[in-house]
Amino acid sequence: MTEYEIAVMPGDGIGIEVIDAALTVLKECEARYGLKLNYTFHDFSADLYRRTGRKITAADMDEIGKADAVLFGAMGLPDVRGPEGLELGAQVEMRAHYGLFASLRPVRLFPGVENAVKSQDIDMLVIRETSEGMFAGLADVHEPSDDSASDRMTITRATCEKLFDVAFSQARARRERGTPGHVTLLHKSNALRSNVLMEKVFDEVAAKNDDVGSAKYYIDAGSMFMVTNPERYDVIVTENIFGDIVSEIAAGLVGGLGVAPSADVSLTHGVFQPSHGSAPDIAGKGIANPTAMILSAAMMLEWLGERRDDVLCTNVAQSIQSAVEATLATGPRGRDLGGTAGTQEVVDAIVSNLPAPSAPEQRDFHAVAVTNR
Ligand code: ATP
Repeated sequence: MTEYEIAVMPGDGIGIEVIDAALTVLKECEARYGLKLNYTFHDFSADLYRRTGRKITAADMDEIGKADAVLFGAMGLPDVRGPEGLELGAQVEMRAHYGLFASLRPVRLFPGVENAVKSQDIDMLVIRETSEGMFAGLADVHEPSDDSASDRMTITRATCEKLFDVAFSQARARRERGTPGHVTLLHKSNALRSNVLMEKVFDEVAAKNDDVGSAKYYIDAGSMFMVTNPERYDVIVTENIFGDIVSEIAAGLVGGLGVAPSADVSLTHGVFQPSHGSAPDIAGKGIANPTAMILSAAMMLEWLGERRDDVLCTNVAQSIQSAVEATLATGPRGRDLGGTAGTQEVVDAIVSNLPAPSAPEQRDFHAVAVTNR
């Protein structure tokens, strides 16, 4: 049996609560299925910075990066800001340090969850580029000014090639599990030079992957289709800020941020966290929906299983996914989904819905393994 080292960073607000929930599920899986995970805990948060001035450093990230995967809650508080007025969180630093260029955000309508649009057939993977685009200039030096401020959008060929390779690999892997296997680029090449390059590289990579269908929409029209006709999407790939926004619109279609997992990955590192932030408005009340975090933990196991060719890990990921599905189908449901359950009640239900050890349920699992296939 392979053991995995997992670095755990709860962070701020509901990050701490949903990490607790995910650890409860993972520990139950260890006991039930024989998985072995060793945890190290890393206490970086906006709150720690406020209290002590301590921020995550490159040396900290080197240490954390030795783990097989990072499980991350949420970091940032609206009133804790750096000198340039930006919220403090380690996500951007970790993306740069580990070269995490793709954030994979599966969005699927689970049976039992009320959706915000007419479509009943929503099953897509939004891939947000996370190392450049509109966030490329975050480390640029700026003279403070009250009259003008700017940000920089930069797109590079090297990142686009890696990103689109992942998108087409994902479409192929998803096709094996029953989706159409199709990649759509959302962009703005009619107005942004950087996006002209992005579109050009997309066309080149699409031509090399012509067994997989592809399409391109401008981000504005593509966002409208997301609402009017979401079933047209399978894999979406897009620039950093567009992906930030579009992935939350997509999450809104299927029940909201409480059920939207994500994985920030490079070809060597993976940071698994819910798509949501620290949600200070509900923190400490015991009502955060832990589902997104628990599904992110399942994505972590899926990713480890794929990288290490470890069927146990993959099966446990599937077991967690089916326990979540069963819980969403019958309840109890969190308040964000129209129910009355608190965090603990949802966790208890997910644990009790984990399949028996002898028969891990084999379902179509639309989590996300980054492969180089
Ligand atoms: P960030 O930019 O840091 O990702 P955000 O602006 O997307 O943060 P969130 O902290 O994710 O903001 O919260 C957005 C809204 O969604 C809030 O009203 C919050 O209460 C709600 N929300 C987020 N996560 C959950 C959850 N797990 N359960 C229930 N409600 C949630």
